Amino acid sequence: MSFPHFTEDLQQRREQGLLRHRRMLEGPQGAHVRVDGTDLLSFCSNDYLGLANHPALIEAACQGAEQFGVGAGASHLVSGHTLAHQQLEEALAAFSGLPAALLFSTGYMANLGVVTALLGRNDAIFADKLNHASLNDAALLSRASFTRYAHLDLAALENQLVTSRARRKLVASDAVFSMDGDLAPVLELLALCEKYNAWLLLDDAHGFGVLGKNGRGILDHYPLPISHFPFRLIYMATLGKAAGVSGAFIAGAQELIDGLVQNARTYIYTTATPPMLASALQASLRIISAEVWRRERLSQLIAQLHHGLKLQRWQLMPSETPIQPLLIGSSKEAAAVSQALQQKGILVPAIRPPTVPQGTARLRISLSAAHCREDVEQLLDALHQLERQ
Ligand SMILES: *Cc1c(COP(=O)(O)O)cnc(C)c1O
Repeated sequence: MSFPHFTEDLQQRREQGLLRHRRMLEGPQGAHVRVDGTDLLSFCSNDYLGLANHPALIEAACQGAEQFGVGAGASHLVSGHTLAHQQLEEALAAFSGLPAALLFSTGYMANLGVVTALLGRNDAIFADKLNHASLNDAALLSRASFTRYAHLDLAALENQLVTSRARRKLVASDAVFSMDGDLAPVLELLALCEKYNAWLLLDDAHGFGVLGKNGRGILDHYPLPISHFPFRLIYMATLGKAAGVSGAFIAGAQELIDGLVQNARTYIYTTATPPMLASALQASLRIISAEVWRRERLSQLIAQLHHGLKLQRWQLMPSETPIQPLLIGSSKEAAAVSQALQQKGILVPAIRPPTVPQGTARLRISLSAAHCREDVEQLLDALHQLERQ
């Protein structure tokens, strides 16, 4: 018995029905996926715009591979930084309307990198309780004092900011909360940061590409007077979700980006993202801003789900984003509904504690521009049938 704590953990998970399994896809991501030789209608992915298998992105990736090869071969500061990375960073800055942007290999790494570069022992980070795990891990790694406030509770946040004697302060929040689909009150957060001289780190993993007419995410959704306080906002977005590829970026003041290149350890001590992905991402950005119909389609599907779902016990949580959680309550029932849906050919993941608070197990329905009306109709019918049983 070499890993006794795992033996115990695995046993417990089995008993409580919480052991997690990896589904193996036999083809690309999309509205329909192939699992174990069966075609399933999927409401699982974060590929909100249907770009993960888009021909223009595949072609750009192939061209990128021909021009730059497959591997970057080194970190950005050694010899891994290519023309493709540089052009992408310039395009990302222009797209987000901020002075400069820096590409990271993943969102997890971007959050670790920016928080640990900005904060140390004498500093403080204030975080919404429902933030993504990567922001929490970043806080721990930074050694700053780490305080969490109840979800969206700005009064609690203000109390914490008032009493803080920290040298530097950072407020960190998901822009769109990944398990609830609701939005952070960004204007109010920014005002608090202004009042107490803190930075605001916005993690827009689920807003980028999706919110706003042109897909600029949370920066488009609210009238953000960024030019009033150019140093206050630190913007992070991931490129493996709506953008359909992989990676993430931080955008903000030029000085912030210059400082990150020198100090962000997850940028410095890791191999650069394959340049072919940077090429694919340039194509993705063009489609995100040009093809407004993808976001219009998403809005239509969200409305269809809200109007069409007439359930007694299970409730959709209030969300205007493609993350549409259906609150079930008990972990057992959520898992059972997810399984029953799969038997009807529909994939919807059950999200259970500890990922979400006790008693709030749910189905996390995610919609994509790759879905059509008939797909949502099929989901509605199945849910209506299952609740009656
Ligand atoms: C997915 C996600 C991340 C991590 O991004 P990756 O690129 O997948 O590592 C960070 N923050 C939030 C809110 C996320 O949903």
